[in-house]
Amino acid sequence: MYNTEHKRYFSHELLDWYDRNKRDLPWRRHRDPYYIWVSEIMLQQTRVDTVIPYFQRFIERFPTIEALADAPEDEVLKCWEGLGYYSRARNLQQAARQVKEQYGGMMPSGKDEVAGLKGVGPYTAGAIRSIAFNIPAPAVDGNVMRVLSRYFLIEEDIMKVRTRTHMEELVMTLIPEGRASDFSQALMELGALVCTPKSPKCLTCPVMHHCAARFEGKEEQLPIKTKAKPPRPEYRLTAIVEGSGQHQGKILVRRRPATGLLAGMWELPHVTVSADGSANLASLPEEAAMERLTGALREEGIPATAASYFMDAEHVFSHIRWHMRVYRCQYQELPSAEAWVAETAAAYEAPEAQYQWIDAQDMERYAFPNVFIRILGAYFAS
Ligand code: SF4
Repeated sequence: MYNTEHKRYFSHELLDWYDRNKRDLPWRRHRDPYYIWVSEIMLQQTRVDTVIPYFQRFIERFPTIEALADAPEDEVLKCWEGLGYYSRARNLQQAARQVKEQYGGMMPSGKDEVAGLKGVGPYTAGAIRSIAFNIPAPAVDGNVMRVLSRYFLIEEDIMKVRTRTHMEELVMTLIPEGRASDFSQALMELGALVCTPKSPKCLTCPVMHHCAARFEGKEEQLPIKTKAKPPRPEYRLTAIVEGSGQHQGKILVRRRPATGLLAGMWELPHVTVSADGSANLASLPEEAAMERLTGALREEGIPATAASYFMDAEHVFSHIRWHMRVYRCQYQELPSAEAWVAETAAAYEAPEAQYQWIDAQDMERYAFPNVFIRILGAYFAS
């Protein structure tokens, strides 16, 4: 359905441009499928500049699939700390264990085998197979769909599965013989550097002479994408429980349950005021907020009292936005200081719940989501 000449031109010019302009990225210095895999997982929803230092640290710490498979999960999460979307790290490690057990530690290249790895979706499978093994396979993500929508003037909603399938079929007809690896990377590179979401740099684009969207003046209108729902607000009261007695100078953190959002990571104790957006923190008077937080801490078995406002913070997930109000809380030492831990662990959301007293140095040892790193950083600097 698309003009063969235009397709040939696209592939030829794109590869020619890529050969001359490709960025020197750490994962491009090797064809090791493990490196490609790690980089592709890290690059999901994350910018290249952010990923580079994480990738280098991760590969240094876990240089092989086997090393990753054998590592304690805590260490993997710690290495991922700050990168967000932590289920990616847990899935990556579980998949490494799959590769170790089922394929003797060698990354498979077959379509079903790669797609069967935990956390590997159609895009990542296509990227690994094409980039690492030079197998013609479509790696179609939002960047690639943007470029194809524009060049071929595809006015279909890219959020629809049918559109993605259509684009995957199209990509398969564009890959030049023997150059699957470069072609996948070239398409991604064009989307990242030239055919950008806003203000595409058409005048320097290697395929501008046959770009249909540019001829029609529609490059800014494409791709067509139905808007995702905005994240649902959740309002949370958060406690910095300051230790006394033997815990003087330390604060209390707890570990999240082993499954679900931010599984296995560490956090400050907090309580939800409203999970459906029906009430917000602005409507909650200060005194009532502190009373509520104190009550929640006591229910959790933590003998502490909210004492003063510290800061507000926000954390945005793909589907939820946490609005957090943080209070300093005073801990009252019990006769048996640790007794409540054992008593209340079972009452907390998960049986494996754990609590720890930490100081600034201890932050090196525990993996925290970004919002808690910000709060703890502000607290320890205060
Ligand atoms: S000419 Fe412009 S819209 Fe077309 S592919 Fe190039 S950068 Fe994108």
